[in-house]
Amino acid sequence: MKIAITGAAGQISYALIPLLLERFKFPIELSLIDLEEKVGQLRGLEMEIEDFCFPQVKNVASGSDEKTLFKGADVAIFLGAKPRGPGMERGDLITTNAATFYRQGKILADVANPNVKAIVVGNPANTNALMLIRGGEYRLKNQIQALMRLDQNRAKSALNLAAKQREEVFVFGNHSPTIFVHEATSEVTEFVRKRGAEVIKARGVSSQASAAKAIVDHLEDWMSKDERRYSAALYSEKNPYGVDEDLVFSFPYSNKKGILKLPLSQQEKEMLLITEDEMKKERKIACTILFSN
Ligand code: NAD
Repeated sequence: MKIAITGAAGQISYALIPLLLERFKFPIELSLIDLEEKVGQLRGLEMEIEDFCFPQVKNVASGSDEKTLFKGADVAIFLGAKPRGPGMERGDLITTNAATFYRQGKILADVANPNVKAIVVGNPANTNALMLIRGGEYRLKNQIQALMRLDQNRAKSALNLAAKQREEVFVFGNHSPTIFVHEATSEVTEFVRKRGAEVIKARGVSSQASAAKAIVDHLEDWMSKDERRYSAALYSEKNPYGVDEDLVFSFPYSNKKGILKLPLSQQEKEMLLITEDEMKKERKIACTILFSN
């Protein structure tokens, strides 16, 4: 299985690769992609992967040439995104990344395995995933998901901490402070909404090890031969919740049955509208740049 990773010189990637190789024991080829100026660091990472001595790793390639490195990819993990820098508006962050993901979407749809599964992690993850779908002219619309598993894991951990253990927990909407947890108290939803910022405040950098673990959890469930139910941000076409049909929105999902229809309370229906509205605004900003030149 060929796994391509963008932003591979970054911190999530550094935590992700050993976890991925500990969990998946089938033959793996890795394609590590980052910006031209990071190619030296990628070579260092390649050396460390060789030194892991995982027998299932059949090949490691790295560089910045996306057409070559996405070629034949069975799985693509998109970590590479420009972070918000000093003085940068959220709108600038959205448009810069939208252009990157739109371009990569075309390449992915042209050269990857036609059955590729792609996970978008780089923020704003949901809107970046939508741009990836649009860049590939919707050819991969049902094969691109944005990571919500970290939010789901955070919700599960909040419930455990409150001694309200639950087998299944789902999150709805955007990977942002408008997200909400299904059938949970406002305390649990607030915990999930604020957790990313709390980690940044404490560590000085964003969640990396827990994001890496969430990516592996997501991928394992998505690829499982058995039915698995989890939260994923999916292309919203024909969704049963009445959400705008051209977004990448977090729903409860079954890898065998698609989006699951669960009952929502009146308050949850209201929160759904708020997070949907935020995503429509992000889409509008992202598209302003793409279609204005
Ligand atoms: P990082 O800054 O350590 O690494 C990002 C890497 O992406 C860098 O090496 C950079 O050079 C590269 N990059 C930037 N633009 C690129 C492009 N166009 N093509 C290829 N590579 C590119 O960041 P990190 O901590 O690894 O986080 C990666 C992303 O994941 C960030 O956007 C972060 O906000 C996001 N994130 C998402 C979640 C989630 O749950 N969805 C959770 C945590 C972090």
